[in-house]
Amino acid sequence: MVSLFPMKILSSDLFVKSFQEMNLNPLLHAALKKIEISKPTRIQSEAIPTAQTGTDLIAVAQTGSGKTLAYSLSALDKLLSKPDSRALILAPSREMAQQIYNVLLSLCADLPISVCLAIGGTTGSKQANQLKKHPRVIIATPGRMNDHLTGNKLLLQNVEIVVIDEADRMLDMGFAPQLKSIQNTLRGQRQTMMFSASFSQSVESIAQLFMQHKVVMIRSEKSEAPVSTLKQKVIFLDRSIKNDRLLDELNATKSGVIVFTGSQESCEFVGAHLKEYGYSIDLIHGGLSQGHRNRVVREFREGELRILVATDLLARGIDIPHVDHVLNYDLPFKEEDFLHRIGRTARAGRTGMAITFITPSDRRMYEKIKPTLAGAKEIKALPNFSFIDRSQKFEAKSVGRRDQDQKSGGPQKRNAFRGKK
Ligand code: AMP
Repeated sequence: MVSLFPMKILSSDLFVKSFQEMNLNPLLHAALKKIEISKPTRIQSEAIPTAQTGTDLIAVAQTGSGKTLAYSLSALDKLLSKPDSRALILAPSREMAQQIYNVLLSLCADLPISVCLAIGGTTGSKQANQLKKHPRVIIATPGRMNDHLTGNKLLLQNVEIVVIDEADRMLDMGFAPQLKSIQNTLRGQRQTMMFSASFSQSVESIAQLFMQHKVVMIRSEKSEAPVSTLKQKVIFLDRSIKNDRLLDELNATKSGVIVFTGSQESCEFVGAHLKEYGYSIDLIHGGLSQGHRNRVVREFREGELRILVATDLLARGIDIPHVDHVLNYDLPFKEEDFLHRIGRTARAGRTGMAITFITPSDRRMYEKIKPTLAGAKEIKALPNFSFIDRSQKFEAKSVGRRDQDQKSGGPQKRNAFRGKK
């Protein structure tokens, strides 16, 4: 994925304060009015005028900053001015693609622009028929788009705008081959916009693949820090009391809560624990069917479900305004996922609270996420809390196990617990 030519990354100082001054197509002003959006967010003020110059663009925008509308408005403005042009929007997960699709559907309700969703987990033949009709906007996950292209290389004819959302996650999820083959089928001049909550080497390597030799980068200063309306609480505790503490913390909440776990097994375990205590919850992780995942996101979005137990599958992009609490039951494996997780609350100016459990064995990840926890209220639920010293790790672990055996009624039960985790 390395280009033969080094890419020149420029910065932009374009900033337009209002949608009215953006010279957008009047139909888009009407659409914004209908969805009751009146003032651009910072990333919209920067990205839309920059995109209107036609340049390739990389925008590193704080999570929850309004990036979906930033690229959707930019793309639709161009499609309205060029009736034979089309746009492809790629997102790393089906849930994100679905969410982007919903935004596009509401924007395009009164526009002469057709929108199609191409994601896995739903029947491919219906999608293939829709794609054959050359919809003006395709929102897809790379895997499913690539499957469709294998059968018909011409599906992306006249695509002049490519948007890659959550670009940093595309490579993490192993989408490099699919992106490469999608790029190979694109012909002619086009504009590529990449949006991401963080900038990394993987973002740059996708940029090398899709973009011209000059690209404008917009990097909001605070893009890698939590929003100011987010309050945080860190609870230092032993693993053996995590489950009880989880119940206490949940009892103190009223609105939507996402409990983040570190693996599918942990997600199932925490879900079963909460159900045992009578909570009405549901789960979302990659091992569940797409039908289940869609239903759960829908029910949670509509407020039918108050508590959702999830893996990092849900950490990025998903926008559900009534999430007031994010509870990190386990830490993520990747530090950047922490910022994405806590970005699920306190969105679009709302307040929110992120609660994070830290156990003695979490030292390494804790050190990494510490800058993101600046200003957090610290609570020691374990009075003599200290991290396990790596040099004594083996010994400390054995002691921990014995303690747990005694508390949980013997090795058999503890092993069941560990198996679940
Ligand atoms: P996003 O970062 O695209 O996931 O958007 C986060 C949230 O901000 C979504 O609920 C959007 O509907 C909302 N939003 C986006 N742009 C604006 C805006 N200009 N004014 C108010 N809310 C917005």
